[in-house]
Amino acid sequence: MAYDTSNVFARILRGEIPCKKVHEDEHVLAFHDIAPKAPVHVLVIPKKPYVSLDDFTREAGAEEVGRFFKAVGDVARKLGVDQSGYRTILNTGGHGGQEVPHIHAHILGGRAIGPMVMTR
Ligand code: 5GP
Repeated sequence: MAYDTSNVFARILRGEIPCKKVHEDEHVLAFHDIAPKAPVHVLVIPKKPYVSLDDFTREAGAEEVGRFFKAVGDVARKLGVDQSGYRTILNTGGHGGQEVPHIHAHILGGRAIGPMVMTR
């Protein structure tokens, strides 16, 4: 699947739409989810244009993938949920329920998050 440069996270990265920033460096941006599902709900994205976890782990090297996951842990510590615990979710593709086609890790915390797979 080709990267769609008009997706909402690409627009956030270009500064076309605002976000509530938690962390930014050369490689990653972390910001609050617009529709939080928990008291803490933050999204962490690499700045480079990868569609999904599938695309990311096909195309990026181990160093880049490792740097991204390290950033997710760093952001969780910055949010203060490392001691209480948190859930990290990476939805991938249709069956994974991915809505925005730019890879993102959800960090959910601030309360017990409940069953691992949410039913609807
Ligand atoms: P997905 O279902 O793709 O894993 O998650 C996409 C997430 O992006 C959803 O939790 C949704 O609330 C969030 N989201 C969608 N549009 C925006 C936006 O414009 N700004 C922010 N901050 N979050 C968004």
